[in-house]
Amino acid sequence: MASKDELTPMMRHYLSVKEQHPDCIVFYRLGDFYEMFFDDARLVSRELELTLTGRSCGLPERAPMCGVPFHAADTYISRLTSRGYKVAICEQVEDPKDAKGMVRRDVVRIVTPGTTMDDAVLSRRISNYTSMVYVLGYEVGIASADVSTGELIATVFSDDPCFSALTGELKRLAPIEILLSPEAANIPTIVAFIKNSLSASITMLEPYEVERRRTQVLLFTHFLEASDKLDKNYMTTTAIGALMQYLIDTQKSPLYHIADGTLYQAAQFLELDETAIRNLELLENITEKKKHGSLLWVLDRTKTNGGGRALKKWLTRPLLNPVAITRRQSAIAALIESPMKLDEIRENLAQIRDIERIMTKFVLGSGNARDFNSLKASFAVIPALKSSISDTSSSYLSELNEQMDDLITLHDRIAATIADEVPMSIKEGGIIRDGFDEQVDRFRYIQKNSGDLLAQIEGRERARTGIKNLRVTYNKVFGYFIEVTKSYLDKVPADYIRKQTLTGCERFITEELKKVEDEVYTATEKLAMYEYKLFMALVDDLMEKLVDIQKTALAIDALDALASLAIVALKNNYVCPTVDNSTVISIQDGRHPVVEKFLEGSLFVANNALLDTDENRMAVITGPNMAGKSTYMRQIALLTIMAQMGSFIPAKSATFGIVDRIFTRVGASDDLVGGKSTFAVEMTEVARILNNATGKSLVLLDEIGRGTSTFDGLAIAWSVVEYCSQKIKAKTLFATHYHELTALEDKLPGVHNFSIAVKTRGDDITFLRKIIPGGTDRSYGIEVAKLSGVTDSVIRRAKEILSEIENGGTVSVKAKSTAKPAPQEEPQMSLFSFAGSEVLDELKKLDVTTLSPIEAMNVLYQLQQKAKNE
Ligand code: ATP
Repeated sequence: MASKDELTPMMRHYLSVKEQHPDCIVFYRLGDFYEMFFDDARLVSRELELTLTGRSCGLPERAPMCGVPFHAADTYISRLTSRGYKVAICEQVEDPKDAKGMVRRDVVRIVTPGTTMDDAVLSRRISNYTSMVYVLGYEVGIASADVSTGELIATVFSDDPCFSALTGELKRLAPIEILLSPEAANIPTIVAFIKNSLSASITMLEPYEVERRRTQVLLFTHFLEASDKLDKNYMTTTAIGALMQYLIDTQKSPLYHIADGTLYQAAQFLELDETAIRNLELLENITEKKKHGSLLWVLDRTKTNGGGRALKKWLTRPLLNPVAITRRQSAIAALIESPMKLDEIRENLAQIRDIERIMTKFVLGSGNARDFNSLKASFAVIPALKSSISDTSSSYLSELNEQMDDLITLHDRIAATIADEVPMSIKEGGIIRDGFDEQVDRFRYIQKNSGDLLAQIEGRERARTGIKNLRVTYNKVFGYFIEVTKSYLDKVPADYIRKQTLTGCERFITEELKKVEDEVYTATEKLAMYEYKLFMALVDDLMEKLVDIQKTALAIDALDALASLAIVALKNNYVCPTVDNSTVISIQDGRHPVVEKFLEGSLFVANNALLDTDENRMAVITGPNMAGKSTYMRQIALLTIMAQMGSFIPAKSATFGIVDRIFTRVGASDDLVGGKSTFAVEMTEVARILNNATGKSLVLLDEIGRGTSTFDGLAIAWSVVEYCSQKIKAKTLFATHYHELTALEDKLPGVHNFSIAVKTRGDDITFLRKIIPGGTDRSYGIEVAKLSGVTDSVIRRAKEILSEIENGGTVSVKAKSTAKPAPQEEPQMSLFSFAGSEVLDELKKLDVTTLSPIEAMNVLYQLQQKAKNE
């Protein structure tokens, strides 16, 4: 590029802005457009399919440019932020009319994925977290803020060597944007997890940024004073400080709506790691990653966005304290007691908009008159909501009632000030209600009645001068004037000022006419300014009540979540379980909350369960494929989660002794990106479970040991059963097709066999779905294959082979696991077939002794891919 001196002043300024915001796309305001230049222009034109044009900038070549109209910019910006980009908005910060020379422009806000205020994004019922991850050794501090609602939360994991607590937490939070400290950014597990399992954009912070930002937390000491842990919480202090400073830097606002924070500890909640949340399909189904078919889908009948957010939090953070659980249960019970009242509450909740997010729009200066009307509609139902829960047996509902401010004064003030039908813009008038303010009414009168005013002047002037054909009229060039024909010129009074002489007449103005002209001309402009002033006064009043409104909104969120659980319980015939500190889980006639919703034309078969830490520690479940083993195991885990979140459950009756963690190992999945094969993934998960489960945990193990040879698999499964039931003594559900394991019932205390009943007739099999004591010695795999539509000839052949094997013919099956095939022979054969190939050359060069198992697997995988292509 040529020297900067050759550039136009505007382009020089643009480049200096870009230099200060290298990681952002700069939206540079020029008149009614935001323009982008050079690489930004190329990128945006590609991403948003906009035409790339050019602008002369002082250089021989035109600068690549593309632009979007300013009034439609929000949509474009949100499309960019949803793809992970950041947009710096460089606005005109002075009125072009007042500018001496070039209009002053400055970056007024940086929109990042986590700080978008786009209505389409924020209308979703989920939190929009930006999370900061700070790592020191095996210690992790995470702070998360939802700028759109003003929520700030932080926690610390003091010993998380595999970062599984961190990834579980991130899965729960599902942040839209993640800031990583340099240490965190250097840990491949963390980065790979974010890239593969979350759709979050990553910002890596420089060390100095973390340090500088850490000190900023002093601005927010009230969070930490409240928690009385300032010096012990170096990790959270740093995470909160770095996060808040990043948000303040990008929003260019003190963000005073984020005025309170909560420090929480994982130990306060039933711990569900990322695998459990995914496998149990708590928030989305595994296959399509959609809410449909998940537990949240069944439980979420909330009416408000805030209620939806609260319910999701309750679901992913079930409680450990029976008192807190009972508090929610009693509130649900009180709501169920009066279904009519519950309907009324839900109808009123349906009128409530996203109060927290609307308040944030006002804090950030982007609230408009429509937002006021949304608040008005929301505030209007609060008195009714309060009265619905004023007379209740539930102490929780009473507390929520107390936390809700009825906001009547503010409601009335908004209703009196803001018109019903209002435009989006707050600077073009039309927002203040008629009759609210004399000035506004006068301006509007002038605007609407300028014709009448002129007619009045005309009448008065005719009478004063005696000129019968005197006309007050208007044209675009001269504005308002009085026209007198030549024959009456002698009657023109001295105070008339001549403006123009035409053939048959003369045109005059008067002081009065000039004043009216001024008023009419400027009424529209003045009205708009005056309305804006009144609007801003109302914003000030609103901001004074910020804390009360936030508190009220949170109470409404909780009421909505409770009402949702109540209506779901009522409609689905759920019962209130007993939750206590015992060690027993006992369920009578339990049902799977999601599967029962999908069964059409048949009934879900209810099943009992009994697990404790003593006689009934482990259930080894055998039975045919498709019989319902997985459904049964997941059902117990889901009911436990529902019970501990305070919900009612689908069962006849149940008792739950509090569980500290739920572990799941179900299904197989490859993680080649992470460098692990199916079997390695399985074993890593098993290792984690065995290392972390306690006697208070609930463990689900579905078909352990399947991805390896039969005997290796059986040996591993056997050993895991022994370890889990005898060493850890966790409540364990163990589904398997290794029927040999049923022998353990007699050998190990606390282990019992169960199977799922089936009825067979000839080749046909009917699933009875009932769990019964005792094991089974058959999996009916071939029958299920037939049911699933595997072709007849294959089924026939399979039967022949099975009967051969059962009659002692050991051909293939035995050879697989017991015979000792010459291990070198096979690989050598295949290597020879690559003789002279690139794969063989690479193999020869490898120093196998220095490879870690994961590296070796990776190399093997890559070589195999190459070999396939050769
Ligand atoms: P596999 O061993 O092949 O993994 P499985 O024994 O784990 O099979 P599930 O996947 O749990 O079988 O169940 C198969 C299907 O059976 C479910 O999708 C559901 O439709 C139905 N099912 C399971 N349990 C019940 C039940 N208690 N009542 C009615 N239908 C059920």
